[in-house]
Amino acid sequence: MSAAVKTKTVKRIRIDVDKCNGCRACEVICAAHHAQPRFSSTNPARARIRVIRYPLSDIYVPVLAGEYTAAECPGRDRYVIGGKEYEECAFCRASCPSRDFFKEPDSDLPLKCDMCESDPTLEEPLCVQWCLADALVYEEYEEEVKDEPAPDEVDEGLLALAHRHGWDKVRDAMTRMANKAPGA
Ligand code: SF4
Ligand code: SF4
Repeated sequence: MSAAVKTKTVKRIRIDVDKCNGCRACEVICAAHHAQPRFSSTNPARARIRVIRYPLSDIYVPVLAGEYTAAECPGRDRYVIGGKEYEECAFCRASCPSRDFFKEPDSDLPLKCDMCESDPTLEEPLCVQWCLADALVYEEYEEEVKDEPAPDEVDEGLLALAHRHGWDKVRDAMTRMANKAPGA
């Protein structure tokens, strides 16, 4: 039986690397927005956007955190675009074992851009609002998609922890947490 087709609103941030000046304001506001309590700190390690910066080569690439991946890919190609040479990894959105980006510094859980949807009062994502160079442009459009269940982000988080610490430690930690839970 084929899956039903439905229409959904796709939200995305279009990135113009030629306009980015590497100021990192987007990282600061994203980190502050996701701090607990909100706006209590500005640790860029908590940001769901990171700016790959090579100032001597005038290269600045903002990258939004995407999906978690348990293994490194073999892609190490280099590309020349507009006379500048970029590493393949510079454009990758994955929370991946080969670099420190997009990992919550305390728990090591993978981070993913949520388009600031935890604050429904925002008309545009905060990184877009704070990018005075217009390198980040918010767009919405309608798209037909198959009506299938979304991947479970809790599963992805557990997989990341198990990959780093092993299933036994994750299972022990969950048992301890369950025993400490109210009403346990
Ligand atoms: S705020 Fe805009 S110009 Fe500054 S680093 Fe981020 S994307 Fe680049
Ligand atoms: S849209 Fe929101 S969550 Fe995503 S990178 Fe920008 S500020 Fe962070």
